[in-house]
Amino acid sequence: MVTLPSVPESLSREIEATQMPQPMQALAGQKGCPVAAIRERLRAAGLRPTRQRMILGWLLFAGGDRHITAETLFGEVNRVRGHLSLATVYNTLNQFRDSGLIRQVPTGGTRAVYDTNTGDHHHYLVESDGTIMDLPDDAVSLAVRPQAPEGYRVVGVDVVVRLEKIAPQG
Ligand SMILES: [Zn+2]
Repeated sequence: MVTLPSVPESLSREIEATQMPQPMQALAGQKGCPVAAIRERLRAAGLRPTRQRMILGWLLFAGGDRHITAETLFGEVNRVRGHLSLATVYNTLNQFRDSGLIRQVPTGGTRAVYDTNTGDHHHYLVESDGTIMDLPDDAVSLAVRPQAPEGYRVVGVDVVVRLEKIAPQG
């Protein structure tokens, strides 16, 4: 596991910087996303770029699309010494979801899984361990598109294909 230095007390300098600090890039695992882009993304969603939102925005969006639980994200916050409580992580994830920055995968499980890919697609769910994988939108076809009951409109159709591992052959 990569050892990551702490996030500075004030993020103001980082927020003004053009690039994510190296530790955040290492954690995200891929090419860094400019801090300014995270800030703009928050603002475009109507959210003020507070310290906790910037930290969680970094962790969520810098490394490409991901499926993540609040608990896993909280672990990453601790690894970068972001000093946020689990409750703050939960609340911020729900704010992100409500403002359309992320979506919640309808796993039916007790722990909410969030998805940074808000585009149309469906999911595989490995029931034994809760692993989520993407299933492209065009891999699923519905013969009849469900109509909304009176007084509602359909905002999305989410298909979860549940999987179990089969024993290896031979
Ligand atoms: Zn997904």
